[in-house]
Amino acid sequence: MIIVMKMAATEEDVQGVVQRVQEMGFRAHLSQGEERTIIGVIGDERPVDQDPLLRMHGVERIVPILRPFKLASRDFQPADSVFRLNGHTAGGTQLTVIAGPCAVESREQIIETAQLVKEAGAHMLRGGAYKPRTSPYSFQGLGEEGLRYLAEARERTGLPIVTEVMAPDQVALVGQYADVLQIGTRNMQNYALLHAVGEAGLPVLLKRGMMSTIEELLMSAEYILSHGNRRVMLCERGIRTFETYTRNTLDINAVPVLKELTHLPVIVDPSHATGKWSLVSAAARAAVAAGADGLIIEVHPNPERAMSDGAQSLRPARFAELMTHLRRVAEAVGRTL
Ligand code: PEP
Ligand code: MN
Repeated sequence: MIIVMKMAATEEDVQGVVQRVQEMGFRAHLSQGEERTIIGVIGDERPVDQDPLLRMHGVERIVPILRPFKLASRDFQPADSVFRLNGHTAGGTQLTVIAGPCAVESREQIIETAQLVKEAGAHMLRGGAYKPRTSPYSFQGLGEEGLRYLAEARERTGLPIVTEVMAPDQVALVGQYADVLQIGTRNMQNYALLHAVGEAGLPVLLKRGMMSTIEELLMSAEYILSHGNRRVMLCERGIRTFETYTRNTLDINAVPVLKELTHLPVIVDPSHATGKWSLVSAAARAAVAAGADGLIIEVHPNPERAMSDGAQSLRPARFAELMTHLRRVAEAVGRTL
């Protein structure tokens, strides 16, 4: 449930309610709006007697949250989440464009790509050092060596790094290098991993499971939020459908649905959603038009030689061209790039 404080409630009133909530064995989550404060009550609240809380000074009303996700819900926090990411702001009017190769393949490859996507206007650099591959015989990533190259690319370009972490015991190491921890589609419901990134203190890009519902995505976000990490970005990356022409089907509905249900920033991955570079631009433009807060796009200096996902990777020049188109779409929907 949430406790809506009166507009005239004082800081003392708010603290009094927070203390009472904690004495009752719950955690309190404060959301300070422009006009009033909302206090979220976290925990299994079924047996709670609301009367004593309702009688407290400054309390206006108590509203049950019927949705299974709470901290992620707009009822808890009506205003969009906006957070700083090493110089960039995610979730505000400015879009967040994350670009780079599927995998870090060499020092030269990641530095060259970083410089080119930076020139084209990207805000962050992506690149996997630990790759979740369908086949155990496919390239699995460079591991810590890849993380070091990413850090060097950041040093040279100033671009913050988004990179995937696949297991709880990797979080500490990846966290030493990354600015944003990516949870891949295959790990969206790896609850031990969600717990670990919830405690890591770094922003998280949580990708939707390829066969997960929007509600399941939000429940996974809830795991991270409930472990104390409020900086979660959600990523629609395409889901499995009967259609086989594309690698996945971009669920464009997910963008406005998520914007309705949650305050968390919504990022779209048109690369994994389509699987084909020729479709990436249209899907990216559609995502921005639909209200996405950002994009994560695979870019490779030499896609035909890429060690993973070459077929869906844009050449840097095409990425630069896409950025010019995106600028116009962004402007049409009141955003900047
Ligand atoms: C990736 O971003 O390269 C990746 C593996 O994505 P996903 O987990 O969405 O397949
Ligand atoms: Mn990829």
